[in-house]
Amino acid sequence: MMTNDELTTGVTATKENLLGRTAEQIGRRLTDEFGEPSYRGQQIGNWVYRHGVFDFHDMTNLNGGLRDRLTDRFTLDTPRPKAIQDSPDGTQKLLFGDDTDVWESVLMRDGERRTVCVSTQSGCGLGCRFCATATMGFQRNLTPAEIVGQIIRVGELLPEDERVTNVVFMGMGEPLQNYDAVKAVLDVIASTSGLEVSIRKTTVSTVGLVPQIHRWAQDGIKAHLAISLISADDKQRSELMPINRRYPLAELKEAAIAVANATKHRVTFEYILMDGINDSIDDARKLVSFIHGIPCKINLIRFHPHPESEFRRPSEERVLAFRDYLYPRAPAVMIRKSFGVDIDAACGQLAGRVGTGDQVSR
Ligand code: SF4
Repeated sequence: MMTNDELTTGVTATKENLLGRTAEQIGRRLTDEFGEPSYRGQQIGNWVYRHGVFDFHDMTNLNGGLRDRLTDRFTLDTPRPKAIQDSPDGTQKLLFGDDTDVWESVLMRDGERRTVCVSTQSGCGLGCRFCATATMGFQRNLTPAEIVGQIIRVGELLPEDERVTNVVFMGMGEPLQNYDAVKAVLDVIASTSGLEVSIRKTTVSTVGLVPQIHRWAQDGIKAHLAISLISADDKQRSELMPINRRYPLAELKEAAIAVANATKHRVTFEYILMDGINDSIDDARKLVSFIHGIPCKINLIRFHPHPESEFRRPSEERVLAFRDYLYPRAPAVMIRKSFGVDIDAACGQLAGRVGTGDQVSR
């Protein structure tokens, strides 16, 4: 079992990593450790999250003695990408880690919007049949510093007059299996002294870990929750997503309603359309029946085949027919635009397919 420090740092280092904590948490830690006033946390939080300064010695509003003590005891470390891949549409993918312990982030550019898709685990053990990450198996949970670090490293790719506007937790891994670390990063995003991204422009995607979805509702998290539905038929969903054997649709529906009630926001259902698998009008009918009574919107995503994949992308005709059956029977339906399809072969299947699209809603 990892200690709190190890969870935060990801390593059993002698120096404690403060990255991934809010300014208030940093302030409390410095009060405990050195008896410093709590506003020190605000100063350090500003340097890190607003100005991208990670060396205590460069924090010029701290006195020299404190900078030395901070350097001896703490760190603000996050990995740098090992490689960056560029797509002609401006999408960039950053690869982190070594050997089998790898993860990735994606930067998508769409009009004024700059969206970062972050990973929360190295690999994933949930075995969804349509997903490239599933073939890697689970390696480990990423730390808050490694998750927030992806937003920081992606931000470094942007020119001075641009900034990250949206964050989606749709890269490698199941975010709610790494709940505490994801919650810590959401706290940093939500805190006004943290990253300047709005929590309202942050989305966390889950395949449907029902107990953690209820916890999300109890914690009153303000970020959007997106549930990868894929199928509204228990038998088929269990074949495509083993997690459904543990938490079937009826339980998932109850949890989705709990989140919508607690947050007063619609839950999003992500539905990846796979040719001849889940894209018939009968499938759409089951989907309409499933969402009945859930304040929600539906995002349709065209499947993008990857080398290990046994599924195909449906024709545009089938995608539109599916959408046209859903709307107006469903309150809001969007067909998501694809980004960087030429560089996302190893991504969690939702990465690279977020952002804007054609939406119909009432
Ligand atoms: S879709 Fe998500 S939960 Fe399923 S295997 Fe891929 S990364 Fe894991």
